[in-house]
Amino acid sequence: MSHLAHIVWTRLTGLMPGELNRSELVWLLSPHAHFSLLARRRATMIVNRVRLFAFLFAVLTPLWAIIDYFVFPYPLWFSLAALRLSASFAFALVVVGYRPSGSLPDAYRAMALLFAIPTVFYVASHQLLAGHQLAGLSAAIATGYAFLPFVLLAGLAIFPLTFLENLLIASPILFAQALSGYMRWSTLDWPSFAGAFWLLTLITGVSNLAGMSQLAFMIALVRQAIRDPLTGCFSRRSGEETMEMQFTLARRSNAPLTVAFIDLDHFKSVNDGFGHEAGDRVLTEAATRITNNLRRGDMLVRWGGEEFVLVLPNTDLHRARDVLARLRHRGFGKRPDGAPVTASIGLAERRQEAAEDWQQLVEVADRRMYHAKTGGRDRIVHADPEESRAAAA
Ligand code: GH3
Ligand code: MG
Ligand code: MG
Repeated sequence: MSHLAHIVWTRLTGLMPGELNRSELVWLLSPHAHFSLLARRRATMIVNRVRLFAFLFAVLTPLWAIIDYFVFPYPLWFSLAALRLSASFAFALVVVGYRPSGSLPDAYRAMALLFAIPTVFYVASHQLLAGHQLAGLSAAIATGYAFLPFVLLAGLAIFPLTFLENLLIASPILFAQALSGYMRWSTLDWPSFAGAFWLLTLITGVSNLAGMSQLAFMIALVRQAIRDPLTGCFSRRSGEETMEMQFTLARRSNAPLTVAFIDLDHFKSVNDGFGHEAGDRVLTEAATRITNNLRRGDMLVRWGGEEFVLVLPNTDLHRARDVLARLRHRGFGKRPDGAPVTASIGLAERRQEAAEDWQQLVEVADRRMYHAKTGGRDRIVHADPEESRAAAA
């Protein structure tokens, strides 16, 4: 039995987007295990798509009023036009009112609003049209108003959503459609209703697939952007983004946050003496050794070249000094000539420096790294020289 299940699972995952690892496939199903950078990027993308969609509808919705004017009798076209203008106004408010904040709840709210506007429009226009006996062309145009659920469900395709999210958004629309069929039970043209409902379900399925494959691409891109390909450390950009988050969190709970600026000593001579490839190997080895000595939650960023920024959340200067001292003690690996690789390290802690933002913290750590260089390299500096002199006096 489990063998059979295994075969089915392998076949199924074989059909899944090739750009993802197996362990990443579950991220297509539900958002609960998404890492925070992915969640933020996705939230941003969703809000941007909501605004694009809303902009399109803000422009298109009132335009159709011209056709309504020609085919419908007086109070009807007027009421429909008023309805269209209000919908267009509501769409415009979404465009103006929402800016990507990186928060997923915000993104969900924006989406809910985007879908609520046409739903209200749909129900209201139905009420208006139901009060009139229409024939010929106007009856045909009136039928056009019934296409809105199709547009909504097809529109879902432009969002990078998980299976579960798609389902949660699509099911109320499908349910409302089924309910409206049930309420018109006696007069309903069953075959055409069933056909339309089936089509709606198919569109939902296709949208769901489209949404998940967008998400798959997004996961692959974010994964590539997050890591530096040579060393496997966080890339500078994702490091900056995460530091921004860490800094805000630390400030909110007044927790310590230490940043270490690490620059390898005389690294150029490795390149010059043994070639760039050897340099790359030394670099990778140093990064691996640092990473192996970290706790969960610590983050090593390749800041550039042979410079690293180590972020230690919930770590005061005292503890950070111990961590770095241990790192130095264990070493950063060997140069091709057998000599140990050393590094100059500058430390800065958020509360100690009364830092306003993470940039300031990195700046101070960078400056102290420079002092470590001028002081003879292969050392840790955790206070400005003037401060240390003042403390000594
Ligand atoms: P110092 O002790 O003053 O830091 O001396 P240094 O030689 O380490 O300093 P410098 O910043 O002058 O040199 C850094 C060198 O790192 C220059 C560059 O050729 C090398 N480098 C930067 N990125 C890479 C890389 O990805 N691979 C290799 N092999 N070398 C790199
Ligand atoms: Mg260097
Ligand atoms: Mg350097």
